Amino acid sequence: MKADKVVRSTCPYCGVGCQVLLNVRDDTIFRIEAPFDAAPNYGRLCVKGRFGADYVHHADRLQVPLIRKTPPAPGHRTPSRYPDDWREATWAEALDVAATGLGRIRQTYGPDAITANACAKATNEDNYLHQKLMRAVIGTNNVDHCARLCHAGSVTGLQLAIGSSAMSNSIAEMKDLECFVVTGSNTTETHPVISTFLKQAVTRNGAKLIVIDPRHTEMAGFATLWLRQKPGTDVAVLNAMAHVIVKEKLVNDDFIGQRTEGFSDYVESLEDKTPEWAEQISGVPADDIRQAARLYGQAHRAAFYWGMGISQSTHGTDNALSLTNLALMTGHVGKPGTGLNPLRGQNNVQGCSDSGGLPNVYTAYQKVTDPDTRHRFEHYYYSQDASRRLPDTPGLTVTEMVDGILTGQVKGWWVMGENPMMSEPNLRHAQEAIEQLEFFVAQDIFFNETNVYADVLLPAAAFAEKDGTFTNSDRRVQRIRRAVSPTGQARADWEIICDLAKRLEKELGLTTAGWDYRHPSEIWEEMRQLTPDFGGIDYARLEREGGVHWPCPSFDHPGTPYLFEEEFPSGRGKFYTVDYGTDSELPDADYPFILSTGRVLYHWHGGTMTRPSALNAIWPEATVELHPNDAARLGLKTGDWVDLSSRRGTITARLLVTGRSPEGTVFIPFHFAEAAANILTDNRIDQRAKIPDYKVCGVKIERAAEIPLDRAGADIPLEDRGAIKDMVSA
Ligand code: SF4
Repeated sequence: MKADKVVRSTCPYCGVGCQVLLNVRDDTIFRIEAPFDAAPNYGRLCVKGRFGADYVHHADRLQVPLIRKTPPAPGHRTPSRYPDDWREATWAEALDVAATGLGRIRQTYGPDAITANACAKATNEDNYLHQKLMRAVIGTNNVDHCARLCHAGSVTGLQLAIGSSAMSNSIAEMKDLECFVVTGSNTTETHPVISTFLKQAVTRNGAKLIVIDPRHTEMAGFATLWLRQKPGTDVAVLNAMAHVIVKEKLVNDDFIGQRTEGFSDYVESLEDKTPEWAEQISGVPADDIRQAARLYGQAHRAAFYWGMGISQSTHGTDNALSLTNLALMTGHVGKPGTGLNPLRGQNNVQGCSDSGGLPNVYTAYQKVTDPDTRHRFEHYYYSQDASRRLPDTPGLTVTEMVDGILTGQVKGWWVMGENPMMSEPNLRHAQEAIEQLEFFVAQDIFFNETNVYADVLLPAAAFAEKDGTFTNSDRRVQRIRRAVSPTGQARADWEIICDLAKRLEKELGLTTAGWDYRHPSEIWEEMRQLTPDFGGIDYARLEREGGVHWPCPSFDHPGTPYLFEEEFPSGRGKFYTVDYGTDSELPDADYPFILSTGRVLYHWHGGTMTRPSALNAIWPEATVELHPNDAARLGLKTGDWVDLSSRRGTITARLLVTGRSPEGTVFIPFHFAEAAANILTDNRIDQRAKIPDYKVCGVKIERAAEIPLDRAGADIPLEDRGAIKDMVSA
């Protein structure tokens, strides 16, 4: 079929930020290709990027603004049914209801009684205006987003040690790596195109790959060395690697002397962290730990790549600090082919954080507590009233928002494009909180498990229906472009926010902070003027160059593919002593298995976009992954329906018997609402990063009491699904 037009944009799924060519005919995307001459993917796409964008045209997209017929009273907020509980409204009506409701909460309880979720799938410009509304109009820093739930451990650890939490090196360097460690990342399923470059480094460049992971991921099949630690024992393994590097004099004395501090205290702390000590804790043979330390320590260039397996933990900060210690002691940072590289999950989770969607910082991590920074933003926003002030104390994190509702501190919630009722740990806890809200505004492209609780629902445009920018995992700012008309009356998030802000300012009797943008390029221009690190990036340059890595302080600056060549943002890199310990809920006699959660290739996060796409036919249901020895002991086989229970609830799904997970560990994907993994997970958190532990809690498995035969695809034998066949035999 011949396209009416082909529009270059950026994939809406993961943080690789692949460039796509949307082939459009009759206002419909009918084919997606990739440009062969464009970074970061150079013609490569995974199944989600190539076939997963049909959700844009799905019949279930939200078409018109909706207002709840009977506003729920606090304590009695229940999920709505469509269409019975809703009435269609005009945009003016719906925005008036939203502004009146939020305004009333602010007037009655104060600005900090309102919290908001920014959106890692929305554009930088959408998220910048979202935080601007919360800070400049409502008057609170209560803004956060799902980065808290995926990489807060990495962010906190890296900020402590080196003062920057972004991925340090670029995707373009991956194919030429000499030695690299992948830990806590099922890269082939979570960042598929990155995994192709990493595999290329091994197969064509002879790179040494060390995988540290309890699961036998596909990357483990390419590894020189695979360390299979018990879940939650990462710190012990990493400390022991550091011990070996010190004892065998593989440290980089020049780098330590010139670029770091605190090494001698740190070295003392390693004295008893022998590989034998770590073997007892982690189950990894001491000799394998020695070999891994030598491979990493002896390499001229070596890099760390990690994912949520490291950060989503009660000791996520410690994990990131342990990796940073290793990079600092060997000098494997600040050069091409090295670095500390947390692989960011959502398409724009890096950009959402960069745009100020966090409770303690404005754009590019400028602190809200810094008076000079704050005054600069006040001067810009409050040009019509110099007496107005921005809030100066950090706001609530996502996990604290939920607890804040339960304690009565939070009364109103504005959720833009996120689905906390799938992503929060211990969903019953989150549900109890949401029921207590006095007012709830949601903005989204579909109904989801969260926005069914809202008072007013604002239909948003999808990625292919609007203009803007995303920032991928390696800090590359790239364009998305409108290719098709918005569904029904859906509008771009930035347009919705501008109209909501104007109404709120009227409601609250405030002078305007400036909301008359005609195009996202004007919003980016405001961000650029307020953000030294974005100073050299504008839409004209993105048009010419395709993408630019920030920091990029001026138009004659080339951008920064790799960071820390001369120094760290904090000056010297700091070593931190990290002791092994655990706050996780460990297995016991009642709940004898460890539960770990994650993704499958064909789905994305809470499934809001992939489940209404063609991809759902390939993997339509949740599966409970169990080791063959455990299955044999329980008398279970692949395809059996099982109840999986923790202290917080039970889900029912079919069993997938595979050696991918170690004995004693169960793995389930978190994409499926009908068997939501977070019904089971625990809401205890890393105290510094406030990130929950999604990777370790105690569960038990029993043959299902009842078989849910009404589930989609439940009539097809599990082992007959093509995508599952390989895993059964793994
Ligand atoms: Fe999209 Fe990520 Fe797949 Fe690239 S690797 S096509 S960005 S989902």
